[in-house]
Amino acid sequence: MRKISADYIFPIHAKPVKNGVLTIDDDGKIVELSAFSENDKDIEFYAGIICPGFVNAHCHLELSHLKNTIPVHTGITGFITEIPKLRNIADKSQQIDAAKFYDNFMYRQGIVAVGDISNSDLTFDLKKQSKIFYHTFVEAFSCDAGETDKILQQNQKTVDLGKRLGFSISPTLHAPYSMCDKLFSEMKLRAEKYGILSYHNQESQDENEYFENNSGNFLKFYSEFAIPDKPLPTGKSPVHRLLDDIDKNTKILLVHNTFTAENDYDFAISASKNITWTLCPKSNLYIENHLPPIEMFSRKKAKIAIGTDSLSSNTNLSMIDELLTVSDNFRNIELNELLTWATLNGAKALGIENKFGTFEAGKMPGTVLIDNVDTEKMMLTKKSTSQIL
Ligand SMILES: [Zn+2]
Repeated sequence: MRKISADYIFPIHAKPVKNGVLTIDDDGKIVELSAFSENDKDIEFYAGIICPGFVNAHCHLELSHLKNTIPVHTGITGFITEIPKLRNIADKSQQIDAAKFYDNFMYRQGIVAVGDISNSDLTFDLKKQSKIFYHTFVEAFSCDAGETDKILQQNQKTVDLGKRLGFSISPTLHAPYSMCDKLFSEMKLRAEKYGILSYHNQESQDENEYFENNSGNFLKFYSEFAIPDKPLPTGKSPVHRLLDDIDKNTKILLVHNTFTAENDYDFAISASKNITWTLCPKSNLYIENHLPPIEMFSRKKAKIAIGTDSLSSNTNLSMIDELLTVSDNFRNIELNELLTWATLNGAKALGIENKFGTFEAGKMPGTVLIDNVDTEKMMLTKKSTSQIL
């Protein structure tokens, strides 16, 4: 049994408790959160605040070897041109080593669960041994209809392998701009069968311009690379491609939403009540030098979760860095709300809130210490760091 205390404990399902004492059993299960009493003995006291383990709702662990390879601010078409060229710059064992290093790095920083996009089984062995819970989304994309059957088979094979290994795993779609109609509708049906999907949405203004006006960089990109079965412009926002006839019960992680307008949001929540707006602010600054309309999402009480995205578009896989980026740019968002995005909302998005996301008795959410917090203003500072306790 451990008793842990700090300046404040943020249980997330309830208000922060000043000098609260968290009792955790030897398995890591929460026993109770109580007020400090003079009679309490053997309390580990930490300077800072404590919250449940972070849920990184969007990552691509298998791209960890691409750190510092793609220049910043390329825009999305520049970025997706670079990825296939660079994906194999390291040999397989180097790729696995990088992924292993960052799996460990994430855990030490307090990340206990990850929604991880995989295009292959490269990370499966390390996931088997990891302290982190992964939900693996096996992603498919291609704008060549002739390849659809091959891609579907490969995707199914990878999902089946994960299932045999006991993983939480499901098939998913990449993005509105990167899939021909045949693959898109097949993958959508498959994902709906699993009841969960993750989808890169409106990461660039180029996506909006292409689908709405048949203009912009995607038009150029498709013709430059002679893409055979590009999706056709619809005159409507790209959110419609997925959501027009989406199964209402499927949990949906819409990832990025950097260029989501208020009417896109209104349409999306009318189409499904099961959307989590999964934001990766540092990746957005890296690729597009733009942030999502976080004030709008917050004002509309959107269900927001936070992801780090991959090291091909980030300098780190650190949730605290993502939260700092939000609070630096949107100073009126309260710390408790930010931490809710980084914990409970991510857990709900992945369907694991019975174990993760809050300090409710019986859960095993992990405990994270965040130091160098300004507890007067209750804000993170540039010196704030996080670690698993
Ligand atoms: Zn991504």
